[in-house]
Amino acid sequence: WEKPEALLTRDEIEANKGDWAWVPHPTLLWQPARTVNEDAAGTVHMVTEAGKNIKIPKSRVMNGPETNGREQKVPLWPLHRSVLKHLEDDLVAADGVNEGIISYTLRELYENKSQIYTWVGAAHSVLVAVNPYKDIKGLYTPNQVRDYERPPPNKKLPPHVFGIAANSYNALLRDAQNQSILISGESGAGKTVATKHCLSWLADVAGSESHVEGKILSANPVLEAFGNAKTIRNNNSSRFGKWIEVYFDGATGGICGASIQNYLLERSRVVYQQRGERNFHIFYQMTGDRDICSRFDLEDASAYQYLNKSGVIKANDVDDEGDLQEVLAAFEELEFGQEEQEWIMATTVAVLLLGNVEFSPKTQAGSVQGSAIKNSGPVKRAADLLGVDPEELDHVLTFRSISVRGEKSVIPLDPTTARDSCDSLAKGIYSRLFDYLVSRINESLEGRAGKFIGILDIFGFEIFENNSFEQLCINYCNEKLQQFFNRTTFKEEESLYAAEGITFKHIEFIDNQVVLDLIEQKPVGILLMLDEETLVPEGSNEKLMNKMESQHQRNPKFQVDPHRRLNKDLSFEVVHYAGVVKYDAELMMQKNIDTLYADMYACCQASSEPRLAGLFPNLGRQQIKSVSYKFRKQLNELMDVLYETESRYIRCVKPNNDQRPDRFETPLVVEQLRYSGVFEAVAIRKQGYPFRLSFRQFRCRYSCINQGHVYRGRDDRAVCEEIIASSPHTFEDVQFGRTLVLYKAPVHKLLTLLRNLA
Ligand code: ATP
Ligand code: MG
Repeated sequence: WEKPEALLTRDEIEANKGDWAWVPHPTLLWQPARTVNEDAAGTVHMVTEAGKNIKIPKSRVMNGPETNGREQKVPLWPLHRSVLKHLEDDLVAADGVNEGIISYTLRELYENKSQIYTWVGAAHSVLVAVNPYKDIKGLYTPNQVRDYERPPPNKKLPPHVFGIAANSYNALLRDAQNQSILISGESGAGKTVATKHCLSWLADVAGSESHVEGKILSANPVLEAFGNAKTIRNNNSSRFGKWIEVYFDGATGGICGASIQNYLLERSRVVYQQRGERNFHIFYQMTGDRDICSRFDLEDASAYQYLNKSGVIKANDVDDEGDLQEVLAAFEELEFGQEEQEWIMATTVAVLLLGNVEFSPKTQAGSVQGSAIKNSGPVKRAADLLGVDPEELDHVLTFRSISVRGEKSVIPLDPTTARDSCDSLAKGIYSRLFDYLVSRINESLEGRAGKFIGILDIFGFEIFENNSFEQLCINYCNEKLQQFFNRTTFKEEESLYAAEGITFKHIEFIDNQVVLDLIEQKPVGILLMLDEETLVPEGSNEKLMNKMESQHQRNPKFQVDPHRRLNKDLSFEVVHYAGVVKYDAELMMQKNIDTLYADMYACCQASSEPRLAGLFPNLGRQQIKSVSYKFRKQLNELMDVLYETESRYIRCVKPNNDQRPDRFETPLVVEQLRYSGVFEAVAIRKQGYPFRLSFRQFRCRYSCINQGHVYRGRDDRAVCEEIIASSPHTFEDVQFGRTLVLYKAPVHKLLTLLRNLA
């Protein structure tokens, strides 16, 4: 017995004597156990399946509702033992909304049946996908593609990512409405793989006349080479978010175009990677290729400061050579010209060279007065590749002009500052190059006409040991998506009931508007206060903290340590839907600034290479925009689009942290289900009538349960009513709508049982 907070109510103990319940288990988190008795000393005796005796002191037994996984106090959830033998592949049909049954179901399906997909709800609009970290035979074959395209009669298709793509496509054709597929999960959970499965199903089934689907699939190797990297969590981790719209011709149903939007590339990776991680794949692909090395005078990866500090150059499971060939083929498919490809590579090499520039202190009268570049080679070569004047580049790397009260002056940079600003130039060029690639790919994808299916592959909720600006943006985004999910699910449910004309209890759900206000409300939301502070010349992270503290001290979703000023602690906590996250404000402002020093900007703008110059357009007098400003704007635009679509969800789950097959770590899984709102999803659905069949479907399926009854020649609705009314069993809460029979999980269970017996 390990978890003291796991408790059973007295009444429940009385009621459940001899019954089964979920009790804590050290590694599985929960296991089924049976109550044997309660002794005079007030101890409840239980026996697990494995025959182990468990004692629970009654003092630890307490009242608690069925939980959605968020409450601190966890009761022992009652369990109907028999359900474990017939696991449902729909979590809404499972026995209860609790961590016990849900994790048990996922684990059993995963471990014993290699079944990685599970539905959340009979509407098949939410799918849980557990990453198998191995190829499961026959799961994505042409046969499977066809099955979900044209479901064979009399065959119940199992939950599948193709099912989500197929439902979206069918709905698009049927309702002529835009569709969306929102894929979430933490790093390594399988979002990008699921995105590819959706896209390839659509490409196979819908196809196109112009073969634009081939180009859509080709976008991936390019985006992954420049935007993915090996991290400790995932050997091929996407370091940016993306939203892909695939457009369909209303008349033929074929694909007629696509467009991609990218979000928040992790630009800091260009200059720094933590131990065991790598820079973006493209750098290793290029430095590993003999032909490219000789064309660009490149050396081995180990010769570059941006690549040789993290301890990994060759990554397991990453085929740099093969992937480079794919990139080059994709460039061709996407109609990137020879010279354009040359420029992309030259620019990538220039970024690498900036990392090798070394600065030495220049001293005057015994004190450091700026710096000089020690090795002229890399600067000269980088300048050449970038099409800028080498002396000019040398100058902008070692000096900065500032203007004080209208007076311009030039100050020398000490070696550390010079190194930092050289890094910011590298990051600035690389992230603009990435934006360039996306917009060029979009040109090739033939644009936007007709209705679309949008697919969102974006970072899931993150709680790390140290959380900073990046996590704040990511978690803000997830908070928004969670609100979208709750609101639309709830609205869809209620509008269906209204359309069917049935009575229903108002569905309760937690709206996270309060947290969103805390982050995004004008003008006092955290991100807005950050922007404000970033803009004022005398701004600092410390002042920002003080202002946030006084602004939000009464907000229950915002917390600071009361002694933080004494400890010079610049951290605050936000109570997110998925948990409390402590953010460090130490570097917030620096991370929020997305501008290069004016001199550097002007230097690139003056490049003789028109493509590079084009990445540095004239800003005019417009206000400098922060990273947070840009992301908020993009996110709000995305939300506007999403609210106009019919949405479906793939909640990706990673079963272990070692990228290993056949290992299902329940506590890790449960935590992710909580973050991705799966418990809420099940709860919302369960509060309503998750099972709904048309009168005809219900009649066909369940006429058999009242043997001996003859229903021939009668109206479907009347037959349905009679099936229910004439049964010797009581069905609680079955509703007859205008076109549907609606009911809850217990009724579904009973009906299934009776049907199996008949
Ligand atoms: P990140 O946020 O880091 O980009 P992600 O959620 O996009 O992570 P993926 O790159 O899609 O994660 O998946 C990580 C790895 O897991 C894949 O490279 C692949 O090896 C494995 N994987 C994911 N989904 C499947 C699947 N359906 N079948 C087999 N292996 C899979
Ligand atoms: Mg990914």
